[in-house]
Amino acid sequence: MAYENNVNNFMWYPWLNNQYKKIINFYNKNRYSTIIVYNSINDNSNNLLCYAVSRRLICQNSNCYKSCNVCNNCILMSNNNYPYYYKLHHLTLNIQKIRDIITNISKLSLKQVKVIYITNIEKLTYQIISTLLKIIEYPPSMTYFILSCNNISIVPMTIRSRCICWSIQIPNENYSIKWLQTIIHNKEIIIRTSLRICNGSPINAILLLQSKLWNSRYVLLNQLNNALLKNNMLLLLPILNTNDNKIIYLLITFISDIIKLMKNTNRSFLMNLDSINKINSFLSTDNINIYKIYKLWDNLIKCWYYLNYKNNINRELLILHFLVNW
Ligand SMILES: [Zn+2]
Repeated sequence: MAYENNVNNFMWYPWLNNQYKKIINFYNKNRYSTIIVYNSINDNSNNLLCYAVSRRLICQNSNCYKSCNVCNNCILMSNNNYPYYYKLHHLTLNIQKIRDIITNISKLSLKQVKVIYITNIEKLTYQIISTLLKIIEYPPSMTYFILSCNNISIVPMTIRSRCICWSIQIPNENYSIKWLQTIIHNKEIIIRTSLRICNGSPINAILLLQSKLWNSRYVLLNQLNNALLKNNMLLLLPILNTNDNKIIYLLITFISDIIKLMKNTNRSFLMNLDSINKINSFLSTDNINIYKIYKLWDNLIKCWYYLNYKNNINRELLILHFLVNW
């Protein structure tokens, strides 16, 4: 991707520098602290930071913040061949895999640095969390556990209480807009809207603007208008019943803005800045009622949660249920 900076053979973004330095400072002061949870709503920031920190921990000649990029370990990491860096994806992780890794690690030299990086720990099963807990209570020597998540609030307290939790900050909105304007050429209001929908993540904002979802968003807004005029939320079912949960999230942002406008909230807090006039026009619809809108908002948030965090759910029936009961 053209907007990625390349540092030490892997992509990097300037707003991650401060976060990275703080984490490395922590490791420098707490040499044997091994467990950290990164909390970010943006996967790309998590992945980059976790990888960069892993490289720095694994480097044999690190100089404060920087990994040397020339030692044997750095070269192996650059080639994705360092044998004791385990990046474990939450979807393919199971108890046996963790046990096998720990068994292997326990046979290694005490001086060998090992990094176990697990993604999206908020989505791990109860059984895996229990196994992990036992291991991190008595971690193998020179082994760093880096656990990332997008939603710290649903990570079990048993894990959180044994971790140092870092909240990865998003860059300032105006800074992000300036950075984005060097890469994409949309109007400022469009960029600002995309940024707000993406919770301030510049990378996610670009991806949203370049995806089909951005055009679907305008179709969704028109459908919402029809549904409110006809007092029939089932009209939204065809557009919501796709495989992409983000469309439901987009609808939540529209409903959030309707509520804010009904409550006369300061407009600087709105998200869909490019569609404010249209959303504002909904308020004159006869059927609109703050309590029903709250109910719809609440239903959609539950629906989005179930679709993201629960397995084996009939998607169409679930969406239907929440649209009927508004
Ligand atoms: Zn090195």
